[in-house]
Amino acid sequence: MSGEKRRPATRVVEAGRCPEWTSLEGQPGGMVNPPVWRGSTHLYEDTADLAKGRPNADGHFYYGRRGGPTQWSLCAALTELEPGAEGTELFPSGVAAIAATLLALLQPGDELLLTDNAYEPTRSIAAGMLKRLGVTMRTFDPLDPDAFAAAISERTKLAMLESPGSLTMEVCDAPALTAIAKKHGVLTAIDNTWASPLGFAPLQHGCDVSIMSLTKHVGGHSDLMMGSVAAAKPLIERIRLHSQYMGQVVSPDDAALALRGLRTMAIRLARTTSSALEVAEWLAQQPQVSAVLCPMLPGAPGHDLWQRDFTGGCGLFSFVFADADKKARARFIDALDLFGIGFSWGGYESLVIPVDPGRTRDFSAWPESVDNGSGLGARLAIGLEDPEDLIRDLERGFAEMGTI
Ligand SMILES: *Cc1c(COP(=O)(O)O)cnc(C)c1O
Repeated sequence: MSGEKRRPATRVVEAGRCPEWTSLEGQPGGMVNPPVWRGSTHLYEDTADLAKGRPNADGHFYYGRRGGPTQWSLCAALTELEPGAEGTELFPSGVAAIAATLLALLQPGDELLLTDNAYEPTRSIAAGMLKRLGVTMRTFDPLDPDAFAAAISERTKLAMLESPGSLTMEVCDAPALTAIAKKHGVLTAIDNTWASPLGFAPLQHGCDVSIMSLTKHVGGHSDLMMGSVAAAKPLIERIRLHSQYMGQVVSPDDAALALRGLRTMAIRLARTTSSALEVAEWLAQQPQVSAVLCPMLPGAPGHDLWQRDFTGGCGLFSFVFADADKKARARFIDALDLFGIGFSWGGYESLVIPVDPGRTRDFSAWPESVDNGSGLGARLAIGLEDPEDLIRDLERGFAEMGTI
């Protein structure tokens, strides 16, 4: 709780461990972790207490749908880790967090500006649900601030960023984009799942709302779905109200799992970042690879902005095959032993998926600076295995892939 100046690795250990949630009143000592407070019903002292009601904020027993100490402890921890935030709301998934933010901040007649490299379900929410509600969506090229400025209209109320972008990993100039938005009275939200607040502090870079899928780095063990939204007042209160309208609540058991994951997040991110860098450096030297899209890699697209604005990375990046068709790519992926084929990432285990961004993009499928090669890509999520074993596995993949 104390010591805001402490370093991030210390803060993930300390955050949210309020004595009132880890100890019994009037008794010395306490638990390291807040217990799992399961419960729908919170009891009132008497009818006068019931009539008095409760403030609509964390820390006040009211009814299970507003959470209890286990969830509040996680909210407090995430707020402490997010510089500039004054509150955090939890959601049953990252997508639920994104949908709630969009619903809370947009109304019929408004327009959403969405980064072209957004997580695909974010685009689907905008193109489907929001459209039905009379909210239009326009995409923008995250690498072109001038075009972003030109796309803003009277109706633009919110811009949604994501950096690095899903699949293609473009790093946008967040301070430039948010400054433009601010000048036009447009709010900005960012999907900060890749970096987490340990790697990028959205509110310090001009964003109004920071969204994260806790399913990834915070959970960290591929056994949990959850999302969070953090912001300063009054925005966080608006989002909280909408979350309550929608009846959004996460279970105390899941909140305890997320807290458990959070405690090791800094060390897991440090390890997956260094391993990813090692694998990315190796991939960059392989003749089968035309481009490595890993912002942490010197010389890779987005590296300069990453170095300027970010304080950390993670294990997730993509690469483009120099010369492959879909069958050759499938041979490569199927030959891998240590990389599971699956969605999501941020767990302790490595994963791979084929990447074909073109079908969901209005602007270039790959960053312009990339020599497109075959145009076929793969995304790797580097886990906690020994990077040398991962490289050996990839080497076998390329051998199995052979030539087209
Ligand atoms: C996975 C992911 C989400 C969605 O999170 P879920 O918890 O799976 O709903 C949102 N944004 C990004 C960038 C993601 O990778």
